Amino acid sequence: MCAEFAWRSDRTDSGGRMCRPQRVLAVQAVRGGVLTWRSEEMNERARFWVALISVVIVSIASGVVSGLDSPWRRPGEPRWWKGNLHTHTLWSDGQAFPETVVSWYKRSGYHFLALSDHNVLQRGERWVRLADHPQLRWAYDAYVEEFGPEWVESRRRDGVCEVRLKTLDEFRTRFEEPDRFLLLCGEEITDRSQNRPVHLNASNLLELVPPQHGETVAETIRRNVLAVYEQRQRLGRPILVHLNHPNYGWAVTVDDLVQVPEVRFFEVFNGHPAVNNEGDAEHPSVEEMWDQVLIGRLRNNPEDILYGLATDDAHVYDRDGGNAPVPGRGWIMVRARYLTPREIVQAIERGDFYASTGVTLSDIEVSADAIRVEVAPNPGASYTIEFVGARKMADGGISGPEVLKRVTGTEATYEFQGDELYVRCRVRSDCPPARPISAGDREMAWTQPVVPSVQ
Ligand SMILES: [Zn+2]
Ligand SMILES: [Zn+2]
Repeated sequence: MCAEFAWRSDRTDSGGRMCRPQRVLAVQAVRGGVLTWRSEEMNERARFWVALISVVIVSIASGVVSGLDSPWRRPGEPRWWKGNLHTHTLWSDGQAFPETVVSWYKRSGYHFLALSDHNVLQRGERWVRLADHPQLRWAYDAYVEEFGPEWVESRRRDGVCEVRLKTLDEFRTRFEEPDRFLLLCGEEITDRSQNRPVHLNASNLLELVPPQHGETVAETIRRNVLAVYEQRQRLGRPILVHLNHPNYGWAVTVDDLVQVPEVRFFEVFNGHPAVNNEGDAEHPSVEEMWDQVLIGRLRNNPEDILYGLATDDAHVYDRDGGNAPVPGRGWIMVRARYLTPREIVQAIERGDFYASTGVTLSDIEVSADAIRVEVAPNPGASYTIEFVGARKMADGGISGPEVLKRVTGTEATYEFQGDELYVRCRVRSDCPPARPISAGDREMAWTQPVVPSVQ
């Protein structure tokens, strides 16, 4: 450890709110599954009791955060797994060591995580020079404090302290646990076209996909998606590819997404404050884009669905929120039997997942006749459930998008009338999320669009 960086900084945890269950996670740091203590003055007897109580608290907390996981669930029965597929570390422009990032997600009750750095996999030898960025002081301090000086590998070159970034293969064994936590290999394929940013995330890939470039934004999206599909085909491995933050730099339009039906997933919510989820006076919100793309695609081919994810795109880990890309804002809940890369990716590809910024659903049932949604309510919160869709008109036109049904409560069913092009559901809570981007934000969930004729 390089001595001049052995300082400490104050870190804060987010406080609990009335609107959500109190998570009792403000206990000790967890080092690779072993509880540790910060207070060196604690005597042996006190340590024993703290350990015992902490184990009980962590057990209860992990039950709370896994939420809908009944202790009587039989092995192999589908259940909900919480995950985030878009997060950055010091392997690119994230401001924390990868272990610090992974630890945050695991501690916060997530079951799976893809670290998705720009045009790089966490592989090979890479050293960061601590003097290069002032924010690395916090990163290094947090790293040494949580993982210990024996884990941190540093050296001095030309009088400057450098720290080696550990590879995914090195650090994953410290965190992964069957049925509890899984790391997926990820990459943010970071491209540009027509001077606009075109970013796509690949999850569970094995080989780096360099940006493929194209003359137009649509062609750039298509070429990158096809490059991921090529790897998937060649390696016989499920790899998910999704388009990131379409409104970032106002880069991707509805037309682009209609023109490229090969892209089946996009971010309906991204937690980075700079990505314009809500649109502006000249641009639709990303959720409005979703409906327009669905209409544009499905009127030609009912198979050309577009599914929506919520992700964090976190870069900053030393604060609770504000105008910084912090973790914990957007995630997906995936219904799968097992916590393995294949099961998770395949469930997402079936559309058996929903996107969330705070609302938890206990059930989504889709049949040939109806969609039924049930909320797992937080105390003190009330919910509005809306079914959004478009209708096919007798003259061949499309009407909508529109809210087809609205219910205040925690459970709602929409019965298909037979003329819907698609129907999807969104749930809005009257409570703000724990880490809002804007003051008016409310906790949301988005289920995936259903095409009745394909059911
Ligand atoms: Zn991006
Ligand atoms: Zn990103």
